[in-house]
Amino acid sequence: MPESQIYIPYRKGFSFKIRYLNPNWGVLHICSGNNIALQVNIRSHENTLALNSLINGAWGTQEEPAGFPFDVNQEIFLSVGAGADGFYLSAGIVGSVVIFTYKYAYRLPETQGLYLIYTNYANLEDCTILPHDSELIGQSIQSESETSNKLSLTDNVESEPAYLEFSDINSYKFYEVNVDRVEIITRYGRIGTSGQTSRQTYATPEKARIAACKKLNEKLQKGYVPAIIGNRPPRPPRSLDIAQFIRLTWKPIVTDGDSSLLSSKFSGLPWLRKDEPWPNCPICGRLMQLFFQLNMNELPEPVRFEFGSGLLQMFYCCNWGCEGEVESAVVSYGRTADLNKNLLIRLVQPNGEASTAPIPLALSDYFPAKTIVDWQQLEDYPDAPDEIVANIYGWEEVNNEEKQDEIVERLGFYDLEDYCEHRLTYEGDKLAGYPLWVQGMEYSGCPICHEPMRQVFQLASEDNLPYMFGDVGIGHVLQCRTHKEQFAFIWACS
Ligand SMILES: [Zn+2]
Ligand SMILES: [Zn+2]
Repeated sequence: MPESQIYIPYRKGFSFKIRYLNPNWGVLHICSGNNIALQVNIRSHENTLALNSLINGAWGTQEEPAGFPFDVNQEIFLSVGAGADGFYLSAGIVGSVVIFTYKYAYRLPETQGLYLIYTNYANLEDCTILPHDSELIGQSIQSESETSNKLSLTDNVESEPAYLEFSDINSYKFYEVNVDRVEIITRYGRIGTSGQTSRQTYATPEKARIAACKKLNEKLQKGYVPAIIGNRPPRPPRSLDIAQFIRLTWKPIVTDGDSSLLSSKFSGLPWLRKDEPWPNCPICGRLMQLFFQLNMNELPEPVRFEFGSGLLQMFYCCNWGCEGEVESAVVSYGRTADLNKNLLIRLVQPNGEASTAPIPLALSDYFPAKTIVDWQQLEDYPDAPDEIVANIYGWEEVNNEEKQDEIVERLGFYDLEDYCEHRLTYEGDKLAGYPLWVQGMEYSGCPICHEPMRQVFQLASEDNLPYMFGDVGIGHVLQCRTHKEQFAFIWACS
């Protein structure tokens, strides 16, 4: 079932029409922010509609207009118009006249001008947005009782401005469209400023409305979202460019199945020395699962020998009872790093004869193998400003909240939440890059030199491995830059 959505720019004065095929059941939502201004629940098999709205998390009283005279296999149209005091619904069989009408009084306070509509059962590509005094709505109004004439959509209709915002790590802008009869007034600029205004005139009010709707939908496709003026404070001027802290990271590109003993892979058969037993868990002694093997010769050029040579292997004990076996790091940067002990991470040099033993039968739930055939390079951003604090002021300052706030402001964000909402730290399995710390930074220091270890590999729950670290946690393989045989593994979940 396709789920689509379309945006109607005005609370009042607009209507739309949808064609339904086999509307056995289904739900149409007209939303404004987190509110559902109108839910239309079609129940053709019961010849009824159920109408309701969800305002500030609370459903209202359901209205069930009787006599919705359509059968399950009829192709019908439904039009909804936003009038001065309520939604006007009308329906009929495609190609025929309106035979059902109903008015649903507004429950939503008139604060948010923009509505989006979506459905999981109708083909919204057939959705037509009509000006308010279209023939269709005209029919629906005419077929209402005489008292409804004073509620006609053509009376008391005022357009409300539609206001959208776009914010990411670099941009912070708004776009507002207002229609005043035949004129469209567009205002745009940085959030918190009054921006620039432009005006365009059209031949008729209908043409102006349709053009405004088109402009808004173009912006929405570019990632703008409906917003309320003033909800986001202005951002401070930027004096520190976050681009200088971008690190490269690589997402593994995989194919199903194992390949050679020397290939980079998730699960599958690792390279083991001839006669070497399959690695056992240092905690429980049971057999471990190969999580990944990386052939350092096959890594992307910028990090080909950054983490050592040969094969980097990580075996992990997935047996029940071992997951919580941790030991606090001797030195931590950020939170106290809890190092997992139910594993083996090592660099091996695949020289000499390899073992020919298959995967032990005792590992009955062994994960399906995936071969890493390529790496997709991405730009990675620090997930929190403490990485930047460490970079600028040194690692001893990572827990200094004043310094973190200062960095957030210098980067041009209005607060930490603004930063975190927009930072782009890749959350899946990846090589190098910045760790996405679910519970905040927790780098362990090298047991030999105490220097902070850096990320070699990030393992996300259920990305390439069908394994869950707690509740959708993320794990990090860390290594000392100097003592490349020193590894640590830390995971956290929310
Ligand atoms: Zn174990
Ligand atoms: Zn070290």
